[in-house]
Amino acid sequence: MRRSLVVAAGVAATAAACAPRIDPTRPVIAMPVTRAEASGYTQTSTYGDVTTFLNTLRARNAPVAIGSIGTTTEGRAIPYIIASRPLVTTPEEARRLGRPIVYVNANIHAGEVEGKEALLALVRDLVYQRRANVLDSLVLIAVPDYNADGNEAFAPESVNRTEQNGPERVGQRPNAQGLDLNRDYMKAEAPETRGALAMFTAWDPDVYVDLHTTDGSYHGFALTYAPSLAPPAYAPGFAGDFTRDTLLPEIRARMGRRGIPVFDYGNFDSVYEERDITDTVKHGWYSYEHKPRYGTNYYGLRGRVSILSEAYSHDPFRKRVASTYAFVQEILSATARHAAGLAAIRASADSVRDPEVAIRSRLTTHPFDAPIPFEILVHTGDSTQTQPGVPRGVRRTGRFKTQVMPVYDRFEPTLSIQRPTAYLLPAGFPAVIDILRRNGIALTPATAGTAQRAQLFVVDSVTHAARPFQKHDETRIVGHWRDTTITAPAGAMLVPADGRLGALAAYFLEPESDDGFVDWNFFDPALTVGRPYPVARLVR
Ligand SMILES: [Zn+2]
Repeated sequence: MRRSLVVAAGVAATAAACAPRIDPTRPVIAMPVTRAEASGYTQTSTYGDVTTFLNTLRARNAPVAIGSIGTTTEGRAIPYIIASRPLVTTPEEARRLGRPIVYVNANIHAGEVEGKEALLALVRDLVYQRRANVLDSLVLIAVPDYNADGNEAFAPESVNRTEQNGPERVGQRPNAQGLDLNRDYMKAEAPETRGALAMFTAWDPDVYVDLHTTDGSYHGFALTYAPSLAPPAYAPGFAGDFTRDTLLPEIRARMGRRGIPVFDYGNFDSVYEERDITDTVKHGWYSYEHKPRYGTNYYGLRGRVSILSEAYSHDPFRKRVASTYAFVQEILSATARHAAGLAAIRASADSVRDPEVAIRSRLTTHPFDAPIPFEILVHTGDSTQTQPGVPRGVRRTGRFKTQVMPVYDRFEPTLSIQRPTAYLLPAGFPAVIDILRRNGIALTPATAGTAQRAQLFVVDSVTHAARPFQKHDETRIVGHWRDTTITAPAGAMLVPADGRLGALAAYFLEPESDDGFVDWNFFDPALTVGRPYPVARLVR
């Protein structure tokens, strides 16, 4: 594949002979093709393929800017590519253009490879298109190989992606630290996450898209999607309602007209297992989780549009690339059409006044009924494997049924708090300060010695999860609030709880938050039963 990307100098000299203004000594560089395309969709790109592809775009004078969001554990620069007409290369230039910025992330789970291939192909096709296209209406930032280290840990898909229909060899799910990057957005332990946060803070994209592959139910959709499932993303002024109720239904209708059925992400039943796949009765369609440790849930907490994309793992690789390509295309078109609406959301989110933030939630208790298609699978009576990703002894029939069932596609708060004016963080927690700053939250030193009204959370009990998760024993504390007056100790910092990022600050710092610093053990050494949690709410 690489050979096809290098210069074909002899051919170029011949072709140039009848084109007088072309320098015959200057080589013609072939249009870049992805490894998926070059291999007939039997292989996926290596890191080297991705960088060669991008370098070829540059060598062919494509109007793109190429850079890196950060460096992985194993030392790979994670590439990003910016495309827009006119081209911008800095956040300041992008803001002056006054257009929506769309950030598309691929390969966060490096076995789920079609996003990487679709995104490279889409950028290439857009930048070389002469007629007007979405690049005249928005700024696209593409990150095709986010988990670059995981991508290089190639193994048979029977090892790295057990429920996927090709290609034969893919990368692994976690990064080189063994972390699932799509559980890392709050604790930000991975260099990849830190790179992403720096990009979010610098560019403040209006739309964030994260490309994945499903790994469960045999449903009848080519792709499933989800807006942010974190309830604070639906605060007045934030983009949650617009994403869920306007943007995604519009994109779904357009995809349907293209013959690509899409629907809200889900799986049959809450614990869908292999034994369930041949059942003809399904009991419900269930989404995943609301916690902001997941990228698209997290990004909604920043007040902007965020969209999860999950290509159907049982479709062949070629079809998954095509579905993902079309879905991203439709997101870009919808963003261009709604540029004015997105600008209004940007203005309203920045001045959001909603005092409430949901910090614990549960799956909705009010599902709606909808017809959901599912495939009929049959037992073969032996132990042969009929298709990669399908359990042995089971065969797909290509016949579908549709059943009306309850759809659980959203979450409802179980605990909401009133935002304080600010949080007072005492000295001694540099990792907390570091992460808040990486999120763009503007901390300021507290004025020592001034008495202020405050609320302190007195710890009644501390429990740790019985099983480790992402190398943590998640912590939960129970306690009670006490009104008091405090004076800021030396070295304390004020964390603002107002404005657009105030909801995110609350999710990080509230002691009862289900995905904050307490949960991820940042405050473990400072938690003592009968004593206050170290962070105080400052109130009027
Ligand atoms: Zn995934």
